[in-house]
This record gives sequence, C-alpha cells and structure tokens, in this order.
Amino acid sequence: SREYKLVMLGAGGVGKSAMTMQFISHRFPEDHDPTIEFTAMRDQYMRAGEGFIICYSITDRRSFHEVREFKQLIYRVRRTDDTPVVLVGNKSDLKQLRQVTKEEGLALAREFSCPFFETSAAYRYYIDDVFHALVREIRRK
Ligand code: GDP
Repeated sequence: SREYKLVMLGAGGVGKSAMTMQFISHRFPEDHDPTIEFTAMRDQYMRAGEGFIICYSITDRRSFHEVREFKQLIYRVRRTDDTPVVLVGNKSDLKQLRQVTKEEGLALAREFSCPFFETSAAYRYYIDDVFHALVREIRRK
C-alpha cells in the first residue's frame, strides 16, 4: 500500500477539521481552535497534494458559492483540469438549517465531473466514502 496526499479545501467553519478527525480517529471534536492558514504554505501543500476535497456546509450558502473559487485556485496552482477532486456538502444532520439543496450540490459536481457526497462529520455519515472516492479518482488518473 502507499500513502496519498489529500488536501481539504473550503470556507472556515464548514467542518474540514471535524471530517478529518472523524476519518482518522472516529472522534467528533466538540471544541477546538480554528486552523490558522498561511497563503505561502497553502500553495506549497496544494502543489504537493494528489487529490482535493472541496467542502461547503449545506447550512451556509456563502460557503457553497466559495466552492467555485477553490476549484479555480486548484487550477491556478496546478495548471490542469485533470486534478482528482471530490465535492462535499457537510453538516447534513442540520436539516432544519439547510440553505443549499442536494440538487444544487449534484449539479455543481456534474459540472466538475467529480463525485459528490452530503456528509455529517457529527454522525460520521459518508465520511469514509469521501476519502475512498478520492483515492479511487487518484488511481484512475
Ligand atoms: P473547519 O473550519 O472547516 O475546519 O470547521 P470545523 O471542523 O472547525 O467545524 C466548525 C464547527 O462546525 C465546529 O463547531 C464543529 O463542531 C461543527 N461541525 C463540523 N461538522 C459538523 C457536522 O457535520 N454537523 C454539525 N452539526 N456540526 C458540525
């Protein structure tokens, strides 16, 4: 087996840390410090990354609009449209607060030609599927 370098992108607060923590250690962090990100570092790990998970929150319309910017950022850094990507709408457990429909997520994924999942890091719904789908995309390309 080998290691894969995966990068999580998405607006602050959509659940990137929570998803990663659930995938790796089967825990949901109730409270933690926000990740501090430096642009210089970001370009470096974006070049090293083999696959990208672009996340938004289904409860945050703005985070959905930002997805396109992250997709463009990947293109700017990597200069190819062939980069393995998975699109994720997180916080699917917060149904009453939904601001982005599943159909909108699906339509964007179709545009990107990439797999799409609505996840809940809180309940560990479809978390493994996201990472496994991304590894499949990497192996396919
Ligand atoms: P990040 O900034 O993208 O890394 O987001 P965090 O992982 O720090 O999550 C931001 C907040 O959303 C935290 O309070 C998390 O507990 C909460 N959160 C993350 N994922 C979920 C989820 O799937 N469902 C619910 N209800 N809350 C979540």
